[in-house]
Order: sequence, then C-alpha cells, then structure tokens
Amino acid sequence: MFSCAIEHFITRNNYPHFTPKAVLFDMDGVLFDSMRGHASAWVKAMTEMGLPFTEHDAYMNEGQTGHATINNAFLKKYGREATEEEKQTIYKLKSDYFDDYGTPEPMPFAFELLQKIKRQGLQRIVVTGSGQPSLLSRLEHNFPGIFEKDKMVTAFDVKYGKPHPEPYLLGLQKTGLKPWEVLAVDNAPLGVESASAAHLFTVGLNTGPLEPEILSQAGADIILNSMQELFEKWDTLFK
Ligand code: MG
Repeated sequence: MFSCAIEHFITRNNYPHFTPKAVLFDMDGVLFDSMRGHASAWVKAMTEMGLPFTEHDAYMNEGQTGHATINNAFLKKYGREATEEEKQTIYKLKSDYFDDYGTPEPMPFAFELLQKIKRQGLQRIVVTGSGQPSLLSRLEHNFPGIFEKDKMVTAFDVKYGKPHPEPYLLGLQKTGLKPWEVLAVDNAPLGVESASAAHLFTVGLNTGPLEPEILSQAGADIILNSMQELFEKWDTLFK
C-alpha cells in the first residue's frame, strides 16, 4: 500500500533499506487531542496583548516553541522581536488559558498503537515543541509504561526547535539507531518539515483543520487522518 512512498524515501536519501525499530511521536495533535485547546489559548493570549492572531495561525505555527510563535507575532506587528520578558509573560498567559480549557484527552487509539509497537519491540520517543508542564506530566498518567523520562525531547532540550531538524535529530540520537530505522509521526506542517529535514520517514497525521496538501508540501512521506487509521494500517504499513 505504501511501498511506493517507502521506495521514494529510500532512493531520495540513498539509504540501504527502511526497517523501523523506533517511532518518534509528536505530542499535541498526535498523542493528545489538545490542539483545539492550544489554538484557543493562543488566540486569547495574543489578542489580550494586542497581537493579531487567528486559530489558523495557531495551527500553522504549531510545533515550534511558544517563544518562536510569540516572536513571529511581534515581528509581524512591530517589526521587532519580543523581549525575554514579553515572551515569558505571553507564554505564561497562554499556558494558563490552556489549563483553563480543561484536561486534554488522549487521542483515540494512541494507547492501543503505543502498546502494539512496544509489544513489537520498537522504541517509543516523544519529540515535542511543548514546554507545557501539565501535559508532559500527563504522558505517564495516560500512557503508563510506554515512555522513559530520558527518552524525550521537549522545548527545554532544543536551541532552534521545529521546523529545524534539530529536535528530530536529537530524538534519533536518543534511539542510538540509524535514520533508516526510525519513523516520525507529526501532525503539524512545521513538525513534518522538521522530521523530513532530519531525513526520517515521516507520517503526516492530519488531525486538525488544515488541508492535507500543506503536510505533503512540508515533506510528509505519507498522510493519514487519525491515530485510528495508523493503528489499523500499522501491520500492513511496512510489509
Ligand atoms: Mg503536534
């Protein structure tokens, strides 16, 4: 079914083969159904600070660090970067609004897929631009026994963040594997761009309101619509 995409991926990167032994998962919009909360919190916080920002902007900016999103909004409105204090104030405001939104639910079929790939002996690593403490602590609560604390890349570990390849390269490093042994799953255009720039096979999981073409243009090797679809197709994916 996806043999064509895999063939292209191997040829494009000049890899000997593609045999996944680890999966790098983005968090928001992949493991958690949290993007509506993030988008709404961003719009509220930015608007309150006099910065024009729409829900569409939130989805297009998703994946990079919160500070980078704030910087972009300042550059757009004032033609200058945000100061450290402005970044911290707005990110705190956004985090508080996000917490008010309520506890995000795990994405349907995320735990089922994680358990399956654990049983199959594949490593599981989270690669997220989030620095949201409330959500990070929920990983163990919602997906017990799946992730190890030192095998995680968050906003605190990166200098550049997505769409730079850095976060996914750090994730790859933590696996100790070759790039043709690792698969990335991300829902955001900037996240897909990051994984693809790290030369990893990238599943674009289109769980939000954006057109799927945006994920293809960002470099997704294949595009699926949900974790349920990835779970159901998992065993045939790499045959
Ligand atoms: Mg995401």
